Amino acid sequence: MGYELDQLDTSIITSLMEDGRKSFRAISRELKISTPTIKARYERLVKIGLIKSVRPEIDITKISKSNKKSLSEDLLNSLKTNKKHFHVKIDNLQVKMKCDFCEGPINGRPKSLKFADIERFFCCTSCRNDYKGKYGGRIQSLIEQYKENKKK
Ligand SMILES: [Zn+2]
Repeated sequence: MGYELDQLDTSIITSLMEDGRKSFRAISRELKISTPTIKARYERLVKIGLIKSVRPEIDITKISKSNKKSLSEDLLNSLKTNKKHFHVKIDNLQVKMKCDFCEGPINGRPKSLKFADIERFFCCTSCRNDYKGKYGGRIQSLIEQYKENKKK
């Protein structure tokens, strides 16, 4: 399964299809969703590997088949018409993801772990726990660093 794009994800992608250099604020106005939310979603799409650069290049190979909703139609159409800007072709709206711990494919809903401004995805809770165990110290120091930076 992998990461399932929801309505907001696809709206952001569709919006970026029109102009990949659009600001988060512009998208926020367009979708009537707060700028931080847009930014967080955008960053997540980058993290899961769907958006590959600041000017989004969408990796079609990451998307596998599913029978998702009709919103896929709109997205598909905009993808088709914007080929020159985006190297995309979409069969469906799920992004294949790799576990951040075992590097195996994530089947089903990814288990996520958020700390500081980072988010990691895992195939199962035991990978998530193992990751926490292995990188606990580093995670803790990243959280502290993040808090420090926020104070400034
Ligand atoms: Zn795993």
